[in-house]
Amino acid sequence: METKLLTTSEKDINTAGGIIADGGLVAFPTETVYGLGASAFDIGAAKKIYAAKGRPSDNPLIVHIADKLQLSDIAAEIPNEAKIVIDKFMPGPITVILKKKPSVPDTVTAGLQTVAIRFPSNETAQRLIKAAGVPIAAPSANLSGKPSPTTAAHVIADMTGRIDAIIDGGACDVGVESTIVDFTGDKPEILRPGGVTYDDLKAVGLDIIINKNILKSIGANEVPKSPGMKYKHYAPNAEVTVVEGEKDAVQKKIKELLKGVDGKTAGVLAMYGAEYDDAVILTAGESNREYAKNLFSALREFDNLGVEIVFAEFCEKDGYGLAVKNRLYKAAAQRVIHV
Ligand code: AMP
Ligand code: MG
Repeated sequence: METKLLTTSEKDINTAGGIIADGGLVAFPTETVYGLGASAFDIGAAKKIYAAKGRPSDNPLIVHIADKLQLSDIAAEIPNEAKIVIDKFMPGPITVILKKKPSVPDTVTAGLQTVAIRFPSNETAQRLIKAAGVPIAAPSANLSGKPSPTTAAHVIADMTGRIDAIIDGGACDVGVESTIVDFTGDKPEILRPGGVTYDDLKAVGLDIIINKNILKSIGANEVPKSPGMKYKHYAPNAEVTVVEGEKDAVQKKIKELLKGVDGKTAGVLAMYGAEYDDAVILTAGESNREYAKNLFSALREFDNLGVEIVFAEFCEKDGYGLAVKNRLYKAAAQRVIHV
């Protein structure tokens, strides 16, 4: 299949909207990561998403809207606490899980009776959803298991020949996927941390809990609340180890670890711009906000540079820390050294 490269011009957005309306697949920028979109009401189109990504069929998609009026086409009911979140944080980097209307196909929700809904703030994403004339079902636009794409170049690397079109809208602002909050249980629960933080949600009066699986791997016999939790994620080819703690202790430890890499090409994902000998250094940025924005891009870049072992400096500093940690620990297959 030939994959068209599109810009954010009105003509190109209309072309992309037409492709979605006709049952095709378009990758598009959002404020979090690039999404791989299809019409949310077209079963055949949704199936193509799973095939293009190599995504397991039991891992549901997020339905993207560009107008709050579309909520009533998708959600069967909206509890009061969800209304507060929708009111305060949408459009923005947050996804709400609600009971679904029967009109939402099982292929989109992977057979669940609940549906994930998001209203992105990215203008290109909003224009595309409006041009398509339907809500857009979309997971991240990477091959399953790879780091999520935060530039069109990342999507081109993974999806060329597999989808109809890619819209280049530049680099994503947040850099990690949306915060997912489940409103179908006893209390609202964060299933995935992201750009809207736990503190942001507490600040609007929500009695909210954080799912216990956010910072660990799922046991073989556990059934996770979010199907995506049980799959391998964000895995670069390099073996990643997180070294977590205060600056001096982290840097001392990484210098020691670099001595034992045994001729392998080593890299450091650096918060503080340290000088390490014999290592490829990529910058994560000193704040956790910057770290979130740079993380996936850096993981892909280490692979492109042939780096085999990566040590990631990490220190939890602000509300974005949980979102960074969740992705970083997964990328490292839970290899974390606390110093
Ligand atoms: P992605 O944005 O590619 O990471 O994929 C969407 C994420 O949303 C996956 O981790 C899914 O497991 C999660 N998700 C989608 N729908 C639901 C749902 N109804 N309940 C819980 N999690 C969901
Ligand atoms: Mg994903």
